[in-house]
Amino acid sequence: MERDQAIFNLIADELKRQEEGIELIASENFVSKQVMEAAGSVLTNKYAEGLPGKRYYGGCEVVDEIETIAIDRAKQLFGAEWVNVQPHSGAQANAAVFLATIKPGDKILGLDLSHGGHLTHGSPANLSGKIYQPLFYGVKEETGLIDYESLEETALREKPKMIICGASAYSRDWDYARIRKVADEIGALLLADISHPAGLIAKGLLADPLPHCHIVTTTTHKTLRGPRGGMIMVGKDFENTWGAKTPKGETRTITQLLDLAVFPGTQGGPLEHTIAAKAIAYGEALTDDYLVYAKQVQANAQALAKYFVDRDYKIISGGTDNHLMLVDLRNKDISGKEAEAVLGLAGITTNKNMVPFDTRSPFVTSGVRFGTAAITTRGVKEAEMSQIGELIDEAIRFKGDEAKLASIHSKVKEMMAKFPLYK
Ligand code: PLP
Repeated sequence: MERDQAIFNLIADELKRQEEGIELIASENFVSKQVMEAAGSVLTNKYAEGLPGKRYYGGCEVVDEIETIAIDRAKQLFGAEWVNVQPHSGAQANAAVFLATIKPGDKILGLDLSHGGHLTHGSPANLSGKIYQPLFYGVKEETGLIDYESLEETALREKPKMIICGASAYSRDWDYARIRKVADEIGALLLADISHPAGLIAKGLLADPLPHCHIVTTTTHKTLRGPRGGMIMVGKDFENTWGAKTPKGETRTITQLLDLAVFPGTQGGPLEHTIAAKAIAYGEALTDDYLVYAKQVQANAQALAKYFVDRDYKIISGGTDNHLMLVDLRNKDISGKEAEAVLGLAGITTNKNMVPFDTRSPFVTSGVRFGTAAITTRGVKEAEMSQIGELIDEAIRFKGDEAKLASIHSKVKEMMAKFPLYK
């Protein structure tokens, strides 16, 4: 077949969109050229069901080496004892953890979606809320901080089999030790989903969940800056005897159960091209350059949050410890949906987001979420973050003024031309 110009033209359009815009979606980033090269390599041709050294297909000697490097680098990066790098996504990683450790109908306790949680932590729209019995904790209305007391109260009363910490739209750090104490009191398993702040945790810039949580899952494409994918890790609870007996009465360890839950439990063949790209991204994240990047991600988020606070924007919890912030627009006469659309016209990409105790629907929302992982990869620093804050504020204030939004869009393009992507 001839080169498929229809698709390649659209890919060129997407590159242009990414190059010209200000990317503030908190879950996105720009991978390096070598990560992209590996993701688009001949490894996409290879089937490799199983694990390195234990495959159901021949010809796996090369991918065995690649996957082993990915596992070793992930262990080193996070200080994990055991890692599975095969989950195709964060949702797949979480599904595999549930399959490995709890039974249909068991209670799970996660952060409410409208308080910053993720769909895979018990939403009725996701298998986690359909197969298991979901319970939720939230943030305190006055502070926007996790309500640990209510988490503890619900846990002690309901005795869930699993407690899930981690979020998609929570800008503060977590007290993992405190939640582990609660989990231990009721014999629950503690899962931390660090999809968003994984890169900051890897570099020691936020609290480390691995000493406290039985299992840790993450996506690999947010702050971690790898290809789209997921990963499961186990720390000090490595090789404990949680879980099942086989029909022969043997005890399966937590890590054996997790491996089996990824394949064949929830997936078929692993994506070895993605695993090679993960290995490269982990290698990049092990460098000092990445530490500089991760610190800048935090500094940029703090600069943007400060700009907003100084201009009477309400940030949930009043600021940020990580790479993101959730802005409550209820004092600004604009919904999250409108803000997303208006900012889009100005060349600034964000996403609408429910805020805690939101009265609007998830399709409209009262908030917008901003993250700095992607924009920091472009080379932007604190000074530009204030300018970006100004452009956002202007776009929101002039929401019905097409000419003004077009002029902001020109300024956005001008600014981003100074920070070339894929030089
Ligand atoms: N967990 C959390 C906390 C997330 O924020 C996300 C994605 O946004 C996921 C899981 C799901 O990841 P994926 O989109 O790779 O399935």
